[in-house]
Amino acid sequence: SFEYAPAPESRDIVDIKPSYGLFVDGEFVEAKNTFKTIDPATEETLAEVAEAGADDVDRAVAAARRAYDTVWGPMPGAERAKYLFRIARLIQERSRELAVLESIDNGKPIRESRDVDLPLVAAHFFYYAGWADKLPHAGFGPDPRPLGVAGQVIPWNFPLLMLAWKVAPALACGNTVVLKPAETTPLTALAFAEICAQAELPPGVVNILTGAGETGRALVEHPGIDKVAFTGSTEVGRQIARSVAGTDKRLTLELGGKAANIVFDDAPLDQAVEGIVNGIFFNQGHVCCAGSRLLVQESVVDGLLDRLKARMATLRVGDPLDKNTDVGAINSAAQLAKIRELSDSGEAEGATRWSPPCELPERGFWFAPTVFTGVAASHRIAREEIFGPVLSVLTFRTPAEAVEKANNTPYGLSAGIWTDKGSRILWMAERLRAGVVWANTFNKFDPASPFGGYKESGFGREGGRHGLEAYLR
Ligand code: NAD
Repeated sequence: SFEYAPAPESRDIVDIKPSYGLFVDGEFVEAKNTFKTIDPATEETLAEVAEAGADDVDRAVAAARRAYDTVWGPMPGAERAKYLFRIARLIQERSRELAVLESIDNGKPIRESRDVDLPLVAAHFFYYAGWADKLPHAGFGPDPRPLGVAGQVIPWNFPLLMLAWKVAPALACGNTVVLKPAETTPLTALAFAEICAQAELPPGVVNILTGAGETGRALVEHPGIDKVAFTGSTEVGRQIARSVAGTDKRLTLELGGKAANIVFDDAPLDQAVEGIVNGIFFNQGHVCCAGSRLLVQESVVDGLLDRLKARMATLRVGDPLDKNTDVGAINSAAQLAKIRELSDSGEAEGATRWSPPCELPERGFWFAPTVFTGVAASHRIAREEIFGPVLSVLTFRTPAEAVEKANNTPYGLSAGIWTDKGSRILWMAERLRAGVVWANTFNKFDPASPFGGYKESGFGREGGRHGLEAYLR
């Protein structure tokens, strides 16, 4: 008889404990209060997680300061690199388990967490490990120094990847960190804390404080930190900018988006349809740079929409741990309510709503892939970030009109262009006010390329060499 090992995507390969503490000064410690994290696909409680209070923030910041002053700050870059490489390798070794954990806590399809999130997480640690010993000779000035202690607050849409974007460059530069993951997705950050311990990272270099907005606020307002790095909503970003103003803390903000995905009549339409689907349905549309506004040249709009709807009808919505799933669960009841409210406003304002027939599971938080046509630029669904699997279609006639409509948003994180003409790509890219412009592709990421916004999408860059500047003085 054969004994089969559980499929790697199985829930059995993760060991979720009933409760988790905070990771402070190299140890897991309890807090006075706790909160629950749930599986958004089933609404089942996964674990009870410590909620850090102001005194825990004090302790974590003190530990990070001590580690910075005594060990990590003075350590030669080549030594820091060894720890970062070790962390990168441990992430690779544990990547299947981490992918399952991410899918359970977040709701994203296993195919994405396994093939996109986790490889990118490891890639960021490898990439920044490679920088740690080269900083003095890389044109950052004669004597680049770390800032000190970084307070980092991240959202729930790419929990471990957002952590990697923040922690890897900070450590490479010699800073120590106190990081707060989002309250709906704390589990992979806590697994990362275990990895730091496994890598024998000196205590206090990385501290993980779980909790909600209050914990985040206590962290960013703490006088003992030198740098605030925040990814999340524009509203909270504004509050943080106000609280940091008047202090000597450095600040980077990665906020919301309402990206235009622009299709010209000479684009290869089937390829464009794949890019549109990837642009808005990847990760249930919980993507700050999602291509949530589709701008189509008028002459091809009917043909393109027919193909898009046919493709949407093939999307499989359901169990995040099923390898065939394309669209997983919405991360939380609150996010589902927000998506519903904005979609209802689209109908109320006169746009036409369409979703393919699909059976949604009874329990959990689900929203069918949706496209709105007949959208006016004034409609809320054309202006506000929905952060869900909802696409708004607008049309244009000329490239100049496409630029004008694409830029008609308070955001400026990303944009996509689909055309056969290289000259048009360059002409458009020069005029689009967006941090990233993709041409004939969408949602492509690489640790070597910087990412960040214009206007209300924030400021500062993460990724690449630019990402280091945010952590050096
Ligand atoms: P959010 O702003 O509500 O929360 C983000 C994080 O901030 C969470 O960890 C939360 O607990 C914390 N927080 C809440 N209030 C706080 C406060 N007053 N002080 C300090 N921290 C506080 O956003 P969200 O709903 O979790 O995430 C969705 C948003 O994030 C979207 O708008 C999306 O566009 C944006 N986002 C941007 C990027 C980017 O790179 N630009 C990436 C991912 C998500």
